[in-house]
Amino acid sequence: MSCLSGKTALITGASRGIGRAIALRLALDGADIAGIDVQEELLGETGALIEQKGRRFAPIMADVTDLEQMQQAVATVEDAFGSLDILVNNAGITRDALLIRMDAAAWNQVLAVNLTGVFNGIKAAARAMMRQRSGRIINVASIVGMIGNAGQANYAASKGGVIALTKTMAREMASRNVNVNAVAPGFIETAMTEQLSDKARQALFARIPLGRLGQPQEVADVVAFLAGPDSRYLTGQVIRVDGGMVM
Ligand code: NAP
Repeated sequence: MSCLSGKTALITGASRGIGRAIALRLALDGADIAGIDVQEELLGETGALIEQKGRRFAPIMADVTDLEQMQQAVATVEDAFGSLDILVNNAGITRDALLIRMDAAAWNQVLAVNLTGVFNGIKAAARAMMRQRSGRIINVASIVGMIGNAGQANYAASKGGVIALTKTMAREMASRNVNVNAVAPGFIETAMTEQLSDKARQALFARIPLGRLGQPQEVADVVAFLAGPDSRYLTGQVIRVDGGMVM
């Protein structure tokens, strides 16, 4: 399995959770990896796991909310690896509250990371990918961006925005052979979902036809498909990875 050999991938939020799983999976498929995060130590752990697989890893401490830092990150990847072929906009946060109790800071913070962060990633990488007439951009959205979720007005709006941005960028970049797609995970076992109470988990299981939460690798496997040659005729698509929760 080395369909990405010779390719390079930049993944945001690569320290842990779904981002780390994506970094490891793309490395397994042969890509060299640059990982962006704000968590230095954990990012180093991701790097060590990738180097154990025989691939190169460039750790980049950057905040996705800052366009200049993202532009610098893309320049670092090009210097280190010669090109950027795959961008995975994965970094995301939650600041949950019912709208009535949600303050403006919680709204702005989530929109800044989850939506402006994706805009910044694409803006930083787009020119180089369009110039080289090839590239894959994969955005990590959420089923919550399609169906809404009480207590997550900020998060749902940000992920709905990511889906709309994905489709728009797919249209803008298709003529340059850059494919832009999204995955929309359901509920996945990461730090983001670990606070769920047993009662909330049981209630969720009843809504998930496959009867369990997903694993980060199960999202990473779909991202690998979108990054690889078998998805060359897909663009502007949102693939749900949710155990059948939304059909
Ligand atoms: P996670 O375990 O919290 O990992 C997210 C990573 O992104 C963390 O390392 C985090 O660092 C980093 N990050 C946060 N803000 C950043 C910023 N401004 N710049 C750079 N890095 C930043 O979350 P996850 O569950 O793996 O989620 C990954 C993606 O999947 C997110 O977009 C999330 O919305 C989406 N998703 C997750 C689920 C789920 O059930 N887990 C479901 C649907 C969609 P810090 O720890 O310092 O914040």
